[in-house]
Amino acid sequence: MNPRFLTKSKFILAMECPTKLYYFGKEDYSNLKSDDSFLEGLAENGYQVAELARCYHPDGFLIEAANNNKAIAKTNELLQRDNVIIFEAAFTYQNLFVRADIVIKNSTSIKLIEVKSKSYDSFEESPFMTKKGGIYSEWQPYIYDVAFQKYVVMKAFPEMNIACYLMLADKSTTCPSDGLNQKFRIVKEKDRVKIITNSKLTTDELDNPILKKVNVDAEVNHVFEKEKFLKTYSFPDYIHYLSDHYLDDIKIKPVPGTVCKKCEFKSDPANTLKSGFEECWQEIFSFDKEACASPMILDIWNLKGLNSLIRSGLCKANQIQKSSINIKENMTPGLSPGARQWMQIEKMTNNDTSEYIDKDGLKYAIEKWQYPLHFIDFETVKPAIPFHKGEHPYHDIAFQFSHHILYADGRVAHIGQYLNTQIGKNPNLDFIRALKQQLDKDQGTIFRYATHENTYLNKIYQQVLSSQEDILDKDELINFIKSISESTKDSKEKWEGARKMVDLRELVLRFYYDPLTFGSNSIKYVFPAVLTRSKFLQEKYSQPIYGVKAEIPSLNFTNMQWVRKENENVVDPYTLLPKLFQDIDISEKGLDLLFGDDKIKGGGTASIAYSRLQFCEMSEDERKELITALLKYCELDTLAMVMIVEFWRDYLQFK
Ligand code: SF4
Repeated sequence: MNPRFLTKSKFILAMECPTKLYYFGKEDYSNLKSDDSFLEGLAENGYQVAELARCYHPDGFLIEAANNNKAIAKTNELLQRDNVIIFEAAFTYQNLFVRADIVIKNSTSIKLIEVKSKSYDSFEESPFMTKKGGIYSEWQPYIYDVAFQKYVVMKAFPEMNIACYLMLADKSTTCPSDGLNQKFRIVKEKDRVKIITNSKLTTDELDNPILKKVNVDAEVNHVFEKEKFLKTYSFPDYIHYLSDHYLDDIKIKPVPGTVCKKCEFKSDPANTLKSGFEECWQEIFSFDKEACASPMILDIWNLKGLNSLIRSGLCKANQIQKSSINIKENMTPGLSPGARQWMQIEKMTNNDTSEYIDKDGLKYAIEKWQYPLHFIDFETVKPAIPFHKGEHPYHDIAFQFSHHILYADGRVAHIGQYLNTQIGKNPNLDFIRALKQQLDKDQGTIFRYATHENTYLNKIYQQVLSSQEDILDKDELINFIKSISESTKDSKEKWEGARKMVDLRELVLRFYYDPLTFGSNSIKYVFPAVLTRSKFLQEKYSQPIYGVKAEIPSLNFTNMQWVRKENENVVDPYTLLPKLFQDIDISEKGLDLLFGDDKIKGGGTASIAYSRLQFCEMSEDERKELITALLKYCELDTLAMVMIVEFWRDYLQFK
């Protein structure tokens, strides 16, 4: 078999951008995603979901052969039977190759089932198709995936009737038992992931599946019959167009656009590997390597209409006219989003590296705060397979918080934290009780960074409100949540708590812009920028006073010196933390990919680490190490918020 066959993962990659096929798998090109498949699988609970799907088919044969030819031979042998269920069945046609998650053969019919750790609602009439008859963009990769498999299987076995299914977590179901989740534990052996199924599914668990097979024949037919690719190709023709280019190692001409923002084939000047990203942009816009490094249109924060701007020939930040930016009149004090974008463009164009602080606006905001100030940060996770009876798939779980205090006289203390380490426990009630106990002691202003904490308080509010359990302090918990939060847009009940949290990111957006953040408002960028700017912070935190009782008490650090310099530059404090994944060789860039723009994403580092505590086999020492790392991670997030406020207070001479 030719090694350059188009597999389903390469096909999915090409559906994001066909040019990526050329860079994929070449060792001389940087690939930021190459280290992440194990982590992504963990983050999305993909391993457990795949195993649970197999448990629903107890008579299935698993084809374990990693060698493709052996896997094909074994599949063909099993398909000789009239009725058979095969996991990881292998099919090939010309230079195409797929491994199908589950294949059910009955006589001349094949059910092709693709298992995904994604949820849908079985009560929704048409979860995948729009009213106009197209496929919702969020479902396209899944439908294309199964359509690609159908094409290969029907070419390999033209006499068979093939029906296509997605197997998904049904949000409208509830888990029939406690501990279903814990039946699937992950062990990583060298480069292989192994799932240990602790015990068989009970009759109740088999009779009430939380994963459902959903027929997607109509959607797949739509792709085959109605959709056009690169404006001309039918789906089958496009598959061969891609596979022929891949086979002959010919690059498909790039079409730069929004998709390039998250291209994994980027590199940085320190990296000696080639950058596919630079090659694409140099090819289309005919500029040299240096021009690629100067501010690009993609670097502008939150710029709308990127595709049409890029396709009209604009690629550099300095080519953007003020008229292209929607600068609306501001109803609230500080910068409007458009004004902030224009400020970024002007500073980038003029090589102006100075920071912007709206003194009056910030002063006005700060004067409304009540001391002591509280800084909180939550870490959360959504397990696809619930921990408990009665919970839906992807139930929201808040498993950790950190809490710092800043007093009016400038004293700082890491005053509290919570981390659930018990396996299989839903910690939400304990979490909210611990938070209440820590914040109820005074009426000081509470800070969060971005929307995540408010969103989760809303979710826990709904869970407590609708709980059938006998919760003795239900009213107190509900009132507490409402007092420190505001209702989200999708909430039917509306409220705005008297002590609702202040979003520090909002204050950054309105009153502070620093070119050192490269246009990002993530705390992971704002915090190092603030440390670099502030002499006050540098002097204070270059002393090993953090974690000293008489100076700055901490629950997890001792004598920590947060400001360290290398070649006169302040070292990013996040690099001073212990690794969350000691056993995985993951690059810093790989970790970067796991962070969202504003907050750790659903598949973020802390939630992966927590999932490992819940799902993975590990020694007591490894557990302790991971718990310590999680506590330190979260503590630094709230300390970062404290330091941003300390910087502003010093700048405005609030003493
Ligand atoms: S830079 Fe853009 S066009 Fe090039 S491979 Fe990446 S996403 Fe595709």
